[in-house]
Amino acid sequence: MVRQQHERHGDRVALVTGAGSGIGRATALAFARSGARVVVADIARPSGEETVSLIAGEGGSAVFVPVDVADAASVEAMVAAAVAHYGRIDCAFNNAGILPVKARTAECSEDDWDRTIAVNLKGVWLCMKHEIRQMLAQGGGAIVNASSVAGLKGYALTSPYVASKHAIVGLTRTAAIEYGPDNIRVNAVCPGAVMTDLVRGLGTSVQSLEGRPMARYAEPEEIAAAVLWLCSDEASFVTGSALPIDGGLSAQ
Ligand code: NAD
Repeated sequence: MVRQQHERHGDRVALVTGAGSGIGRATALAFARSGARVVVADIARPSGEETVSLIAGEGGSAVFVPVDVADAASVEAMVAAAVAHYGRIDCAFNNAGILPVKARTAECSEDDWDRTIAVNLKGVWLCMKHEIRQMLAQGGGAIVNASSVAGLKGYALTSPYVASKHAIVGLTRTAAIEYGPDNIRVNAVCPGAVMTDLVRGLGTSVQSLEGRPMARYAEPEEIAAAVLWLCSDEASFVTGSALPIDGGLSAQ
């Protein structure tokens, strides 16, 4: 097992949704490398189980829990399964998200709108609802929600995505205010373009990054590092933040 120097999440339990791919998988692996026991939650069983195998292959501890974050009963069952397996949830990364079909606002279908909002926004709220109840019972915890640079700026052709990611920032700030007194910190990360299946699905070309301050994609590990820091004691006074990890894109 390649352990990080300080094992700063040793003895902690970390729950990651959408952990079968991309940023979620990189974060699940990073949590395991820093000593945490990891609940790998995803709607796709094969890729979620593959993440568990990768962690186990490095000597870490992880369990797969199937979930559709848009479904209230499924999210409640995910949190119950996590607690049944590991006893608590110290860190939660609410990361599962989807992109709608590209369309201008007036051409976006109602189905696309509803599913994007259901997974990206209602999903984060449902996860927080049940994670917070557990964290209140155990005396605290840290939550990170996956927003996006699209939660800070508008982007053409993705109105339900942009709306969901802006709303996640508001939801994060509100929960941070509400649960600060309960020793629960709530933050959001706002990644720029990260080379994952989600972006590959767009068919985005490398040329489209020209003119950006750092003209490259982020590695999923660069987002994972920020999530681990936000969940760590080093970030003990950080709550309600929406942290851009975007190579300066939102500064433009
Ligand atoms: P990805 O497509 O590689 O992985 C997403 C994972 O979520 C998949 O494993 C998928 O099976 C799972 N998932 C989808 N719907 C689900 C559901 N209803 N319930 C449970 N799991 C579900 O995507 P990614 O690029 O790693 O993105 C992860 C998060 O980061 C998303 O919220 C995305 O919006 C956000 N983000 C990504 C980028 C980027 O450039 N890749 C930039 C900013 C923000």
